Amino acid sequence: MTINIQFFGAAGEVTGSCHMVTVGRQRLLLDCGLIQGGRADEARNQEPFPFEPSSIDAVVLSHAHIDHSGRLPLLVKRGFRGPVYTHRASRDLCRVMLRDAGFLNEKDVEWENRKRERKGLERIEALFTVEDAKLALGHFKGLVYRKKYEILPGVTLRLSDAGHILGSSIMELWLENGGKSRKLVFSGDLGRFDMPVLEDPETIRQADHVVMESTYGDRLHRSWDDSIAEFHGVLNHATNGRGNILIPAFAVGRTQEILYLMAKNYEAWGLDRWLIFLDSPMAIEATEIFTQNVDLFDAEAAEMWHENSKEPLLPNLQISRTPEQSMAINQIRKGAIIIAGSGMCTGGRIRHHLKHNIWRRECHLVITGFQARGTTGRAIVDGTRHIRLWREEVRVAAEVHTIGGLSAHADQATLKDWYTSFKGRPPVTLVHGEERAIKALSDRLHREVSAPVHTAQPGELLELA
Ligand code: ZN
Repeated sequence: MTINIQFFGAAGEVTGSCHMVTVGRQRLLLDCGLIQGGRADEARNQEPFPFEPSSIDAVVLSHAHIDHSGRLPLLVKRGFRGPVYTHRASRDLCRVMLRDAGFLNEKDVEWENRKRERKGLERIEALFTVEDAKLALGHFKGLVYRKKYEILPGVTLRLSDAGHILGSSIMELWLENGGKSRKLVFSGDLGRFDMPVLEDPETIRQADHVVMESTYGDRLHRSWDDSIAEFHGVLNHATNGRGNILIPAFAVGRTQEILYLMAKNYEAWGLDRWLIFLDSPMAIEATEIFTQNVDLFDAEAAEMWHENSKEPLLPNLQISRTPEQSMAINQIRKGAIIIAGSGMCTGGRIRHHLKHNIWRRECHLVITGFQARGTTGRAIVDGTRHIRLWREEVRVAAEVHTIGGLSAHADQATLKDWYTSFKGRPPVTLVHGEERAIKALSDRLHREVSAPVHTAQPGELLELA
């Protein structure tokens, strides 16, 4: 009999989550994410999968983030024909996110091919297109939390709320083969307690083996309350000025948290003095998906969002769908709060708003999310005096504020607590973290709760039976 798991992605790194579970003759993939980072890292997405895509019987997807879902269109393009099981909210979010990723791929390749043609080089193919994304989405089967599904012979699945983004799931897998059975729990990405909008991550009591993420395994976050107070401070300070506030935000998650926090504190923060713009087609679509899934929110957010479901969450919120509506914002010199993507200022409408505002001393830029190395957002946070927007050098004169602590990932203490809620300290394999984070978390689990902890190596196969 065979029951094992093999780690192909997010082993010793953060992105490209992908693990394969084998139960007898059945093969199940946990996530199929995109590798993100520098050019060399991203080039690895084009390489052949370390397994034959047509030999995979089913995929279970933990959540919609692209580093977990982003190679599913490629998997289908290369021969996978089975179902993709995921929470129904993750399926809906993937509809937005995978299509958007396909669109960006097409645009990138078009640009690259024009250059290549001029050099007399052969044309290259997009990793996947919008059409490939649509084909892959046809394989998605939406599930709900806390219900058991027999997804393959000998494989039963139950999803629980991971509290990380809408629809994010912890997977419990009951695996049976040749009279043996094992229960595997995969954390997916775990969220934090008391996050705005989402429920807390659920704890699981029983497992024979745990596979756990460790993104922030070496860090302790600031409390939500401190971060929210900081955000209020920035808004208060900016009220006295004569400029606009720009908030670059990730379309899924951070945007909705910010809208919710502003709605909740509308009067206390004096937000009626501002015009608030949501200027990102993808964030608008994602917000609509949030509104359709109010039942997944925590009680406080559900009550508010529900009350407002007939009208916008904020009375002075303007939704900018079309490019014309977006361009009209450029005329406004003061009193606007503009939420736009992309979250790291590498593309999207935020770049237009930067062009019109960042050189003005009276404006404010509020950074609310992680800024990766090499991005425009990171350069601004690091204090650069000029940024390049299209072919133009633009001065950075606006006040830049960084609100830390708004992460959607569990920190070291929460990861430890989540693991400790399992009965009998089952063996745990750490994935989805950089070396330092994994080492720190591993040491703490070892030292404080004597956990049998192990770090996944790329390609490593672990027998579970
Ligand atoms: Zn994630």
